[in-house]
Amino acid sequence: MSRVVYVNGDYLPEGEAKISIFDRGFLMADGVYEVTTVIDGKLIDFDGHFNRLERSLNELDIVNPMDREEWLDVHRQLAAQNAVEQGMIYLQVTRGAPGDRDFIFPDPETTTPTVVLFTQSNPALVDSPKAKKGIKVVTIDDIRWGRRDIKTVQLLYPSMGKMMAIKQGADDAWMVQDGAVTEGTSNNAYIIKDGRIVTRALSNDILHGITRAAVLRFAREAQMPVEERSFTVEEAKSADEAFVTSASTFVMPVVQIDGVTLGEGVPGPMALRLREIYIEESRKAAI
Ligand code: PMP
Repeated sequence: MSRVVYVNGDYLPEGEAKISIFDRGFLMADGVYEVTTVIDGKLIDFDGHFNRLERSLNELDIVNPMDREEWLDVHRQLAAQNAVEQGMIYLQVTRGAPGDRDFIFPDPETTTPTVVLFTQSNPALVDSPKAKKGIKVVTIDDIRWGRRDIKTVQLLYPSMGKMMAIKQGADDAWMVQDGAVTEGTSNNAYIIKDGRIVTRALSNDILHGITRAAVLRFAREAQMPVEERSFTVEEAKSADEAFVTSASTFVMPVVQIDGVTLGEGVPGPMALRLREIYIEESRKAAI
């Protein structure tokens, strides 16, 4: 069945949606995105994603084309029109399509942002077979740019990183800068040692995960100690547990790093407990 998607104010069958070949998102990766999860047909952490979208746009001098209520309405309409019970809503805003290709930003008075949203259903989000087994990661150099806090659509290197992992028989890659783990290709990275959760502190080196913020809050509320600091690959390999977080994977246990098995090689109790709490609390707060 064809999806209904949103393009610049219109709801259309996906096959009829069109954007210009001059769009700066297409030519220059000049755009930002967000992914909001849907559970029980409702949005998880909508305000976190909206606020980060505003911040990303601000950092790039792109005017937010809609206010909170308008964004919320489009999200809800798409989830409803596509009957998404579990899955995600992808949104992308680019600087728009001036008539020519030029490195200079177009005048925002005459070139308005392009807005695209679509849904992806995934009935196995909550009851994920991967979360029961845990995932394997390999480490790769973090050669991305210096503003990883802006959620831009420049995803070529993360995508290549994922392929490097798959070629080595793993599921994902953790990126490493100066010996310390920054984050996963599309998630934030954590280790647990002696009951303490360790994850890199917020800076321009990593994306400020919306799931990260929620999970750290729930961890602290559950009296699990949290240290926001860098950790090395060696430290990670000798950890008791590890996991990653993102909007679409929630808390995903990691059981192997560069071929080294953590603990018993099965998801650890703290990671599984955090996954449970995250899903339960997020469901309660969904809108
Ligand atoms: N880091 C990177 C590089 C990501 O791409 C993502 C997911 N888009 C995350 C972290 C996790 O962010 P969130 O929890 O907001 O999905």
